Amino acid sequence: MKMQQLGKTGIEVSLMGIGTLTMSPMQRGLSVNEGAEVILYALEQGITFIDTAQMYGSYPQVAAALKQWKGPAPVVASKSAAHSRDAMQAAVEECLQQTGLPCIDVFMLHAVRDASDIEARREALQYLREARENGLIKAVGASSHSAQTIEMLANTEGIEVLHPMYNRDGIGILDATLPEMTEILKRARAGGIGIYAMKPLGGGHLRNDAAAALNWLFASQVVDSAVIGMTSNEEVDMNVRIAGGEPVDAEFARKVAGRERRLFINKGICQNCNACVKTCQQNALCPGEKAPVIDYELCILCGYCAPVCPKFAIRIV
Ligand code: SF4
Ligand code: SF4
Repeated sequence: MKMQQLGKTGIEVSLMGIGTLTMSPMQRGLSVNEGAEVILYALEQGITFIDTAQMYGSYPQVAAALKQWKGPAPVVASKSAAHSRDAMQAAVEECLQQTGLPCIDVFMLHAVRDASDIEARREALQYLREARENGLIKAVGASSHSAQTIEMLANTEGIEVLHPMYNRDGIGILDATLPEMTEILKRARAGGIGIYAMKPLGGGHLRNDAAAALNWLFASQVVDSAVIGMTSNEEVDMNVRIAGGEPVDAEFARKVAGRERRLFINKGICQNCNACVKTCQQNALCPGEKAPVIDYELCILCGYCAPVCPKFAIRIV
């Protein structure tokens, strides 16, 4: 597995990282042991980069894997949607406590929407800078679906790592074309920002063309790494082969791609409050008569809508 410098952070990551959203309780709900086994298998195959988040609920899976892993320490990145200083401090402490790590490699503002959202999170960002000074984290970053927001974040003092929506077909990239996003990322990378791609398979939309989509991403050299959600050893095998430039058997790729997964709203318990509609940045939900209507073409399974539902009516099935 090729190793890459994550911008100027001094942190080295594998070209491909393992994302833990898909194995988390928000999506496939692997048990702690099942999730840990997949992470451990990925580490054994040369992946050295683990992406998690406060929202995913995957810290126990990460912690169980780290506890059993005997090799060199992998890089762990996490993120929180906290806006206030106190909430971000609690988020960092929660991550340290639940993963058992003495220091988190990268901690980020999660899913920043726009300029006003950057402003609203000033206190949280300031806390992350102080946590870096105090040795609780090594690098500060931010994730976003929006190209314009990514550009603003790249020019925000203290941001060293960016986690943008980026994939071959531009799926999920807000307010810019794929070429425009590419130029923004190239400028940020030239300025020394570490960049790792989110949703390189477009939240499942590119799963039947995974090899071509990932080969495009790695050949583009626009990002230092890309994290992909993996829930089985077969998925790890296939992705590691692709990252290593090896061919993938079409039948094996079809088996790994599996069936399509979709957002589901339980209309029996939905109270039609539209909190999920307001949260979705992809405009994949619109108000409906009894419950929001889902546009499956626009939904990228980011899962941001599920935690805001007061009735726990949203699942990915
Ligand atoms: S509907 Fe939910 S999972 Fe789908 S894109 Fe919107 S917020 Fe993400
Ligand atoms: S947030 Fe939950 S209860 Fe409210 S509209 Fe969405 S699915 Fe229904």
